[in-house]
Amino acid sequence: MKVKKELRKKVIKIIKELAKDKDKHKIAVQPKAEPFKALVSCILSLRTKDEVTIEASKRLFKIASTPNDIMKLSIKRIEELIYPVGFYKRKARTIKNIAKIIHQKYNDKVPNNINELIKIKGIGRKTANIVLSYAYGKAVIAVDTHVHRISNRLGLVKTKTPEQTEQALMEIVPKKYRVLINELFVKHGKSICRPISPKCSICPISKYCKKVNVKKHR
Ligand code: SF4
Repeated sequence: MKVKKELRKKVIKIIKELAKDKDKHKIAVQPKAEPFKALVSCILSLRTKDEVTIEASKRLFKIASTPNDIMKLSIKRIEELIYPVGFYKRKARTIKNIAKIIHQKYNDKVPNNINELIKIKGIGRKTANIVLSYAYGKAVIAVDTHVHRISNRLGLVKTKTPEQTEQALMEIVPKKYRVLINELFVKHGKSICRPISPKCSICPISKYCKKVNVKKHR
């Protein structure tokens, strides 16, 4: 109990410190985005730079921004609009299929609970939590590779999978910070706490970090 209390205090300090630089980098999914747009942007963002995702989302949404509009587009047309995002051919197919299911089964409304969302082919737990937190404002934590890696390096959690990290973080991150932690850790992971050789010498949260399993750093 005492350990959790200490971790809770530590995570709040880390979040507040990282929040000072919050607006330095743009992210692929904007907070308070429309649910369907958040969902599509999140799918486009996988293995793709944020700048490329943002432009691809803009091109697609200019032509079609609702499930009904997107399901009417051919896969070829979606491919053209989202190129050059990574795996654009596979993503075009996934997006069209998701649009069709949301139109036909959910009456154009993206479900606002995780169990319904992950039933849809192409939507994993991380994507579902992005939609729930960014678009629906729910107090859930979307854990991707950055959130998983940084939480372990800091010593906030000791976990092997993103699912375990999500559970462990839910126990120590107060509700009001849960939406923010994804955005802050993703930005921090892309700019400073890189997967290989993190830039610890310029890291604003180094004093809180245990550098667990960090073998080499700059
Ligand atoms: S001190 Fe290094 S390992 Fe720790 S959070 Fe900062 S960059 Fe990452």
